[in-house]
Amino acid sequence: MNKLINFPYQHVLVLGLAKSGTSAARILLENDVKVRINDITSQESKDIDELKEMGADIITGAHPLSVLDDINLVIKNPGIPYENIIVNEAEKRQIPVVTEIELINYLISNSVIGVTGSNGKTTTTMLIGEMLKMSKCPVEVAGNIGVVASDIAVDLKKDETLVLELSSFQLQGTVRFSPHIAVLLNIYDAHLDYHKTLENYKQAKFNIFKNQTKEDYLVYNVDNHSVNHGAATAKSNKIPFSTTQQLTSGAWIDDNYLYFNGEQIIRRHDIVLVGTHNLENILAAVCAAKLQGATNEGIKRVLTSFSGVKHRLQLVEKVKGRVFYNDSKATNILATEKALASFNQPIILLAGGLDRGNDFDTLVPALNNVKAMIVFGETAEKLEQAAKEANISICRKTTNMKEATKLAYEVSEEGDVVLLSPACASWDQYKTFEERGDMFIQAVHTLK
Ligand code: ADP
Repeated sequence: MNKLINFPYQHVLVLGLAKSGTSAARILLENDVKVRINDITSQESKDIDELKEMGADIITGAHPLSVLDDINLVIKNPGIPYENIIVNEAEKRQIPVVTEIELINYLISNSVIGVTGSNGKTTTTMLIGEMLKMSKCPVEVAGNIGVVASDIAVDLKKDETLVLELSSFQLQGTVRFSPHIAVLLNIYDAHLDYHKTLENYKQAKFNIFKNQTKEDYLVYNVDNHSVNHGAATAKSNKIPFSTTQQLTSGAWIDDNYLYFNGEQIIRRHDIVLVGTHNLENILAAVCAAKLQGATNEGIKRVLTSFSGVKHRLQLVEKVKGRVFYNDSKATNILATEKALASFNQPIILLAGGLDRGNDFDTLVPALNNVKAMIVFGETAEKLEQAAKEANISICRKTTNMKEATKLAYEVSEEGDVVLLSPACASWDQYKTFEERGDMFIQAVHTLK
């Protein structure tokens, strides 16, 4: 078990008792750091009883400002906004406010690869993990993907690399956290409700490299203006990647090959994952994996077999010459546009879901390759309208995924792509986008 080394804070307030808060509190207590826990909801659980027994001072059901007395660090849950009364007061008292990832560099000196960006984090993180695994480099994957990073760090073995998916929420407020290899994929307008301004959001993302030194690496997307601009300020070795231009170092791709530092790594044709956006993720992953010692053979094995993270333009299966893709994670128009742009074949699009009050005019130009649409959910009529505007003659309305998949199959021909990419959230009919995607996968399997 790894211990906190040279941890300079004697008394820590853990704000928010979700999964990451519970883990952070436990680690601190195990390292004899005094811990106070504050959560606005009053709750009882086995975890709370255990933390109490370990010596935590627990205050729930309110946010009295006195919870900050004698505190020298606040570890907050990434979801708690900066307007929170305790966070505000901590800032006034000049107490640093960080998230659980701050513990990482005190727990381990292993190589950490951190991946951030507005889009593509999960895919890239998983690709890096797989590439290292296939190259026989010991590795653990954690972070924003539901596995608490510091929990994994505690049990990390000396030779293991830790690959972390990092959200801007986790990175904001970073004091010392610093990955050996930082990967910055892209920055788009996102989460402005939380970060308030694009500038704040960018700064949070740039925190991924702010503590890096000349010994470290920053893998970055030269094609993304904000990323390129920010990267110029990094002190680490800059490793660029691009899907649009030939580079002298880093990773890039032309019509025939993917290159790293001028060396051919794999034929473009042999890459299974579809979508230009995924090429960005692949190039980023190749850079990070190569820097960490992955072999070309290991990388090739992943890229010739990895067919996508579940629900993200995931190849489900081929049924009688039709290829079915599950992109249930596409909960907005932009994501569906990306998915549609990924195919040259005629597409049968399954779309619809929660009505957020927007219309689908902007989706119309992206429908040029769509030959039929199957629509459902609250937005069914609006999508029917979009189909009409795009001169798509076949548009069927239905209520459930099984029926939608059957209809899609009926109107499809050999060589077509059948794509679930709903352009809407799932909550009108499903608990989560995962549930929606699983229903689709099940329905595809019953077609055979
Ligand atoms: P994240 O973890 O950042 O949410 P994912 O890997 O889960 O990203 O991908 C989510 C969706 O984001 C995908 O279905 C796709 O629509 C879009 N996406 C993925 N990678 C990129 C990228 N590099 N650029 C733009 N959009 C992307």
